[in-house]
Amino acid sequence: MTGIVYKSTGSWYTVKADTNEFFECRIKGKFRMKGIKSTNPIAVGDKVDFDLDTTADVVTGVITNIHERKNYLIRKSVNLSKQVHIIAANVDILFILVTIDNPVTTTSFIDRLLVTAEAYGIEAILVFNKVDTFSEETLDDQLFLQYTYDKIGYKCLRVSAATGKGLDALKETMTNKVSMFTGHSGVGKSTLVNALEPGLNLKTKEISEQHQQGQHTTTFAEMYDLSFDAKIIDTPGIRGFGIVDMEPQEIGNYFPEFFKLKDQCKFNNCLHREEPHCAVKDALDDDEISWSRYKSYTQMLDGDEENYRADTYGN
Ligand code: GDP
Ligand code: ZN
Repeated sequence: MTGIVYKSTGSWYTVKADTNEFFECRIKGKFRMKGIKSTNPIAVGDKVDFDLDTTADVVTGVITNIHERKNYLIRKSVNLSKQVHIIAANVDILFILVTIDNPVTTTSFIDRLLVTAEAYGIEAILVFNKVDTFSEETLDDQLFLQYTYDKIGYKCLRVSAATGKGLDALKETMTNKVSMFTGHSGVGKSTLVNALEPGLNLKTKEISEQHQQGQHTTTFAEMYDLSFDAKIIDTPGIRGFGIVDMEPQEIGNYFPEFFKLKDQCKFNNCLHREEPHCAVKDALDDDEISWSRYKSYTQMLDGDEENYRADTYGN
């Protein structure tokens, strides 16, 4: 049988079969994916083949094969420096929730997430939330950001999780896709998901309650089917994802507006800094490239870790 992994709790994987039935599955033997060393062989979102073991009272499955991944998101493993943990696989859209104030979302934070999405080959969409609270000034700031990112080619949506404004367009974008939501704590991720799917059992709540009781809990990513033919991956407890070991030369490739100009730079290994005849610097001087984007780029080149951490949905 074939199915998609909806949940993994270490040794057991909840797999939704093509027949729409759910099965608890284990892995047979050792799985090694080519090219990456990860602490978990299979992640939420993976498409797998499995056999059913019908000999026991409770029917369980044995995963025999993982299909090739379209993409995957990783974070560094907590205990093993060389290994990574795969947060999720086969993600179609990474929604970056942005608020102008309360809390402030900086452009360097946005850009780092966009670079992450580009590096993983995941479409990123900016969702400006809390539009119901906008003053003239915050509206100006928001429209300027939207202009900046729109120009590069990133889709931007404006919503209010509180009033429901813009949610139809968001739902349409999510339909038939696997989505993840990310953004600073307080931008409205849980409010938004609740507005999209009232009654969805949010882990965010459960976890914060458990934290208050002082319990240590390990949490796992989980995929949910929403009523409008969309799937979301909830990643409670995962406090950040990023690119592990990116070469300086690579970074510019993940700024699409820089990448487009790269061939016009005099040096083919141009870092777009002090080099002469740099098409990126020229475009910057001509206001074709935004200063905030360039600043984010140089911060990343310098390994500035500020704002590196992103809270994923359900932090
Ligand atoms: P999370 O940490 O990203 O999950 O953020 P929450 O969903 O917990 O929201 C943080 C706060 O912002 C809560 O007090 C929400 O009620 C509020 N909030 C979320 N979305 C909106 C919105 O669209 N408009 C307004 N006015 N408040 C919102
Ligand atoms: Zn250059």
